[in-house]
This record gives sequence, C-alpha cells and structure tokens, in this order.
Amino acid sequence: MSLHPALFKSMIAAAAQQVVDHAEELTALDQAIGDGDHGINMKRGCAQVLADLDSIVEKPTGEALRAVGMALVMKVGGASGPLYGSLFMGMGKALGDRQPTMAILPEVFAAGVEAVAARGRSTVGEKTMLDVLTPVLDTMRAGGPHLGVRLREAAARGSAATIPMRATKGRASFLGERSVGHMDPGARSSEIIVEAMSPFLDERK
Ligand code: ADP
Ligand code: MG
Repeated sequence: MSLHPALFKSMIAAAAQQVVDHAEELTALDQAIGDGDHGINMKRGCAQVLADLDSIVEKPTGEALRAVGMALVMKVGGASGPLYGSLFMGMGKALGDRQPTMAILPEVFAAGVEAVAARGRSTVGEKTMLDVLTPVLDTMRAGGPHLGVRLREAAARGSAATIPMRATKGRASFLGERSVGHMDPGARSSEIIVEAMSPFLDERK
C-alpha cells in the first residue's frame, strides 16, 4: 500500500505545526543544558516548511523529503538544522523514485537515522535526538499491529531515557555531569515529530 500524497502532506504539516506549537517548551529544555535556542531554531525551520508546503508536496515523495531537509538545513541553524536536514534528505535519497509504502518505510527511515549518526558522529546513549530516533526505528523494523501507538510509546520512552544520561555530544556535553537530570531538547523535538506523524500510520492499517 503506498502513501497517498495528501496523507504525506498532512503528516509533514502536522509535524511542522506541532514543533511550532512546542517552541517554548523546546527552548526551555535547551535553556537548562544548552544555549536556549532549540525552540526558536526549530520554529523558524518548520515555519519555512509550512510556507513551502504546497510546492514541496507537488514533487514526487523522494524529492519532497529532500526539499523538507533542505528547508531545515537552510533555516533551523545550530547543530540541529544540519542533523534534521540529514534525516529528511537521507530518507529522500533512500526512497529515490520509488513510491513510499509501509513495507519500505523501515529501510527509508533507517537511511535517515544513519545519515544523522554519520553527520553528528554520534550514536544512541549520548543524550541526543538519536535516543528517540533509534528506538523508533527498532519499533518500525519489528512491525506488527498498532504500529503508530507503539512508535509514539518508543519515542516517549526514548526522550524520557535522556533525562538520567550524561551528554557526550553537542553543546550539553560541555556541562559534563551537570547535563544529568534534564531531558535533551533534540530528543524531545524528535518525539514531537513522531507523535505528530504516527497517528497517520494507524489510520492506514
Ligand atoms: P545548538 O546545540 O547548536 O544550539 P540546537 O539547540 O538547535 O543547536 O540543537 C541541540 C540538539 O541537537 C541537542 O539537544 C541534540 O539532540 C542535538 N545534537 C547536538 N549535537 C548532536 C550530535 N552530534 N548528534 C546528534 N544530535 C546532536
Ligand atoms: Mg541550542
């Protein structure tokens, strides 16, 4: 079963809007262990995606994913802009000219997550967005019923798991032990994106 362009548009729109709506929360998280710009950065990038949405979704899905990634690279800035850009561009590149289907979703998402890890020279357990993206990928690979719900649960567990972690990548790593006890802002923004997109996967069955 392939992903209808209208559904793809709704998923991207929902994710971008949810990030915009959570900008203050993301900024507050980044104030605790970073420089307090994650919400502003992500809001700027996602507002651009929303502004470009009609022209983005006119393109074949692979190209559309790359266009989302490009908009994020150009507008988000900070460490997270190139990383989220890599996520979507990596997915677009992996999809290529193919139609997006549930069957190839894990493979395509894996390519995006691998692009983030390569770009960030990071891995799971370092208190970053990868602590959400990686368990979400594992859940996708496992497949099975009620996938959307389980993806949301995996994302929520992943972001919560960053609280007791000591950051070893990104700005929060400068704090060393003092980064412990706070949720990573990038993990939370990834959770918000998964929360916003996953209900559309439930609807498809
Ligand atoms: P900056 O740190 O430049 O101010 P942001 O505040 O927008 O950028 O983004 C910070 C988030 O980026 C972190 O919370 C973390 O999730 C993510 N991040 C930073 N460095 C890395 C990395 N090397 N690998 C993966 N994610 C990272
Ligand atoms: Mg920051």
